[in-house]
Amino acid sequence: MEIYFDCSATIKPYSEVLKTFETVSLDDFANSASNHGLGYKSLTILEKARKQVAKYLNVQPDEIIFTSGATEGNNLAIKGVCHREKKHKKTIITTKAEHPSVLEVFHALETDGFKTVYLDYNKDGQLDLNQLKQALNDDVSLVSIMAINNEVGYIFPIDKIYKLVKENSDAYLHVDATQAIGKEILPSDSYDLMTFSGHKIGGLKGSGVLVKKRKVYLDPLIDGGGQESGYRSGTSSLGLDCSLATALRITMSTLDERTSKVKEINNYLRNELSLIKEVVITSPKSATPFILNFALTEHKGSIIAEALSNNNIYVSTTSACSSRQAGESYVLKEAGFDPVIYKNSIRLSFSGFETIEKARIFVETLKRLLKEIKPNVN
Ligand code: PMP
Repeated sequence: MEIYFDCSATIKPYSEVLKTFETVSLDDFANSASNHGLGYKSLTILEKARKQVAKYLNVQPDEIIFTSGATEGNNLAIKGVCHREKKHKKTIITTKAEHPSVLEVFHALETDGFKTVYLDYNKDGQLDLNQLKQALNDDVSLVSIMAINNEVGYIFPIDKIYKLVKENSDAYLHVDATQAIGKEILPSDSYDLMTFSGHKIGGLKGSGVLVKKRKVYLDPLIDGGGQESGYRSGTSSLGLDCSLATALRITMSTLDERTSKVKEINNYLRNELSLIKEVVITSPKSATPFILNFALTEHKGSIIAEALSNNNIYVSTTSACSSRQAGESYVLKEAGFDPVIYKNSIRLSFSGFETIEKARIFVETLKRLLKEIKPNVN
C-alpha cells in the first residue's frame, strides 16, 4: 500500500480535470487570438473558463489572469506593483514565513534599492501585527502575506491584515493563497491581489491564477501579444486554463467533506504522535488541519523520511522546494525553535482523501523505524 502524506507539495490531478484538458486540447486546439471561426470558438471557451473561475472565487472575470502557477503569480504581483510604483513608493512588506517565490523576489528587489520589511511571528504562528502597523506608511506600495504557511500550516489573519493595511496606508495587499485554496474560504474583499497554483488542488502542473482587482495597477513582466489583458503575453493554454476551472469546481464542492476527514486524521495523528517520547509537534492547534508538522529530537528527520519512503510512505522534510537543499526549516527557525527542532522536522500534509487506516500504518511504521534506526542527532 502506498501512503502519500505530501499533498502540500502536489496532488494527483482529478480524472475529470484530465478529461477537460484532453477534450479542450483536441476539440478546441485553435489559437484563441486567431481571427477565424475556430479561433472565436476557442476564445469563447477561454472566457467561459475565466467566468467560472471568477464565480468560484467571487471576483469579476476581468480580474482573473491565467498564469503557469503560483511562482509566476507571486513574481508578477510583487514585481509588477513595485515596477509600476517605483517612482513614488519604495517600501514593501512581507513575512519571514513566506515561500521562496515571495522571499527571493523581495531579496531581488532589495538589491534593486527597495526598502523591505520582514514581519516576525511566534511558535504559535501569530504574526506581529504591531510591527506591521508600525511599518505601514505612505511609502509602502505592497504588503505580501501568505494565507496559510506551506510548512507548518500557520493561518495568518488576512481579514485583519487587510483592514490594518487600508487604515494605515494606501498599499495593496497581495495574498499568496497557494495553500489556502481548497482548504479555507478566502473572502474576496480581503485582498487586492491573490495567487495560487492548479496542481495543489487537483489541477495540472503549469496552471495557475493571479487575481488582480480592477483598481490595482501593475506592470507586466512579459511583453508580447497582449494576452490576458496585456498582463501575461503568450498564446493562451486553453486546455490548462479550462482544467483549472474544473479543478477549482471540484475542490470547492468537496471542501466540507474533505475538511472533516482531515480533522479526524489530524486529531488521530496528534494524539498518537504526542505519545512518542522524542516527537515535538510544531504545528500549533490553530494551524490548518491539512498540515501537521513535527520534529524528532533523537533522529535525523531526513533519515527517517527516507526510511519511511523505503516503506512506501511519502512525507516531506521542510517544503518540497527546499527539502533537497539545507535540510533545515527556516520557517521553524524564524519562529524561535532550537536547531534540533528546525533541522529535524517532518511535514505531513493531506488532501482529505486519506483514511484513518493509512494514518495508523504511518504511526506503526514510524514507531518501528525509531526503534530500529540508531539515534543519530548530535
Ligand atoms: N507559495 C506557496 C505557499 C507554496 O506552497 C508553493 C508551492 N510549494 C508556491 C507558492 C509555488 O507554487 P508553484 O511551485 O506551483 O509555482
